[in-house]
Amino acid sequence: MTRPEAVILGSGTSNGVPMLGYEYPPGYLDDPKNHRTRSSLALIGPTGNLLVDCSPELRLQATRENLTRFEAVLITHTHADHVMGMDDLRSLCVLTRRPVTVYTLPQYQGDIRRIYPYAFVDLHPEGIEVPRFDLRDVPETLEVGGLTLRIFTVMHGTVPVVAFRVNGFAYLTDVNLIPPSAEALLQGLDVLVMDAVRYRPHPNHFHFDQAVEVAQRLGAKTTYFTHLSHDYDHTKTDATLPPGIRLAYDGLRIPV
Ligand SMILES: [Zn+2]
Repeated sequence: MTRPEAVILGSGTSNGVPMLGYEYPPGYLDDPKNHRTRSSLALIGPTGNLLVDCSPELRLQATRENLTRFEAVLITHTHADHVMGMDDLRSLCVLTRRPVTVYTLPQYQGDIRRIYPYAFVDLHPEGIEVPRFDLRDVPETLEVGGLTLRIFTVMHGTVPVVAFRVNGFAYLTDVNLIPPSAEALLQGLDVLVMDAVRYRPHPNHFHFDQAVEVAQRLGAKTTYFTHLSHDYDHTKTDATLPPGIRLAYDGLRIPV
């Protein structure tokens, strides 16, 4: 049986790193950990895998990590960097001859239908392959891959973002406010993966100082910052972080 783990498929903010159009100081891009695809995560369970968000680099992320099947997909919210890879699920639909089960909040299902209308209609000529999404409301307790996830929401500017806890692991992508009800679920963690987008304040994300404060208050044994911009030089920053705080990077694997 596979040991359950979380795989950071992407640790980058919405632009990714390196960012189109920018030049970087000598050496910055020599560190593979300074190459950040858009934020996404896979949970490898005893009986199946859950994909959390579909970044524009989904195909590259999943093939890099040798992930060939997903029992279901969880969409945290419908900003472009979290849904624009959903078309890549097409090849899995063709292989399995089944729609992909996609869990999200009810208010995000219309966005997915609008972005991918062809995934929901049957009028395709013979031989044309399309993705198929079986949209479902995400339940408070999600059983998938032999894992049990406690689902809750946090705030990201004005929109809710789906977050979850599984065993001693919790994942909070895009967030700038954790409601008290969610904070109660984030006690006693081994590992918290949480947004810390950049050094300067941001209206919709925790910036570095806020993220450090929240991480220290929640007190997970280890907190990994994710959804990272090019503000962070991985090796230099990681060496100066407070105890128990680290930077996530693409390909990081965490037991859950
Ligand atoms: Zn977002």
